Amino acid sequence: MAIESLNPYTGEVLQSFPAFSAAATEQVLAEAHQAAAAWRTTSFAERAAVLRRAAELLRRRQHELAHFMAIEMGKPVRDGRAEAQKCAACCDYYAAHAEGFLADEEIKTETGRSFLSYAPLGVVLAIMPWNFPLWQVVRFAAPALMAGNVGLLKHAPNVPQCALALESIFHDAGLPPAAFRTLLIETEPVAGLIADDRVAAITLTGSERAGAAVAAAAGQHIKKTVLELGGSDPFIVLADADLAAAAKTAAQARMINAGQSCIAAKRFIIEAPIHDEFVRLLTESLRALRYGDPLDEATDYGPLARLDLAATLTQQVTDSVAQGATVALAGGQPDPRSPRFDPIILTNVRPGQRAYTEELFGPVALVLSAQDAADAVRLANDSRFGLGAAVWTQDVAKAEQMARQLESGAVFINGLVKSMNELPFGGVKKSGYGRELSYLGIREFVNQKSVWFG
Ligand code: NDP
Repeated sequence: MAIESLNPYTGEVLQSFPAFSAAATEQVLAEAHQAAAAWRTTSFAERAAVLRRAAELLRRRQHELAHFMAIEMGKPVRDGRAEAQKCAACCDYYAAHAEGFLADEEIKTETGRSFLSYAPLGVVLAIMPWNFPLWQVVRFAAPALMAGNVGLLKHAPNVPQCALALESIFHDAGLPPAAFRTLLIETEPVAGLIADDRVAAITLTGSERAGAAVAAAAGQHIKKTVLELGGSDPFIVLADADLAAAAKTAAQARMINAGQSCIAAKRFIIEAPIHDEFVRLLTESLRALRYGDPLDEATDYGPLARLDLAATLTQQVTDSVAQGATVALAGGQPDPRSPRFDPIILTNVRPGQRAYTEELFGPVALVLSAQDAADAVRLANDSRFGLGAAVWTQDVAKAEQMARQLESGAVFINGLVKSMNELPFGGVKKSGYGRELSYLGIREFVNQKSVWFG
């Protein structure tokens, strides 16, 4: 696949970028490796000053960044600006807290003094997707840089301008240029980078297929990976919940980034007595949303990021309906030549249907009926994925009990699942492993070194 900016709303090719040659890639890697040796010796205060300036630039350039996201992957500009601001907050967060998160920890042993220290690993390779082209990168880069590591970014091939804009922000903020570089490369040279001794670790956000391939290659070379993969997040609503609020949030949760989010709610598991009313309210909320040009301030959702993603989703829906699912709200692609995809609601979704087992990466809401709370948890856990989950009920004790039973990396009660700087983020089962954000995120790519005094 070419490294190409293609506007999914207009279909126009905006710019093509030649992939780096093998020699250019080697030079970037050699420089990153050298930069790692110097960057690890900087103080937390020096690193924090760079990250704070990067935060300032992310805020100052939010309009330009939102423009790139709109034209390269279809994100409405108001959501793009919010993403840039969220990245700025993440840089500030790690600038403020990294030193505390990585402070030595005294540990008592039989002879007296011992401690645990956290040392940087070196060059971390980040393989990132297009859906949150800034956020996915910054939530890796901010903690990694503050820990004293350096970053090489292999971004998705459809967002090169976003990747380069972010690289400029770190450089303009005063980071030594070789400490964060975008590699404009295709998939093929990645295996060589993973195998290279100068790359210490790899983080990947993307599909199960990509995660499995990258982790297998890293495993061969005994390298640490963090994988943040897909999800089919359950959104459970019990009969005693504030139904209007739940349905309104459900629409928002399904439509994040036109449904192309790993933590978008995908399976709405509704207690039987309120099932029909929930479907009615969700339909109303989804129908009210406006499709349009991502550059238009009034647009609620834009096209999917690529035509092939829309075609895959259409096929998943068609197959599920053939397998017995019911279309409660009709939508989908009005034109198979365009990645526009209008929201769909499917009911009567059962085991054996594609919609029941696969991740639907776009605006298709599945509504399942549960007999009671226990049945809701059973349905929620009947998935290969385990990223986020939401529970809606007025009974807080019951919600807490359900949270403990749900097989997912996070449970949000009476709210929208989202990533927050303070909370560890990641999954179980096929959603991946490792954690990003919070104090756990910054401790993924460090040498956790024990020092013992005899
Ligand atoms: P991919 O997983 O193919 O792409 C994500 C990143 O991984 C890209 O940078 C891609 O680059 C890279 N990649 C893919 N395969 C390899 C490999 N073998 N070795 C090294 N790098 C690799 O996602 P798609 O864009 O194709 O989307 C397909 C599906 O993935 C979606 O429908 C969704 O289900 C899931 N997905 C999940 C995301 C999440 O947030 N968890 C984000 C995006 C997608 P390249 O294309 O150059 O190979």
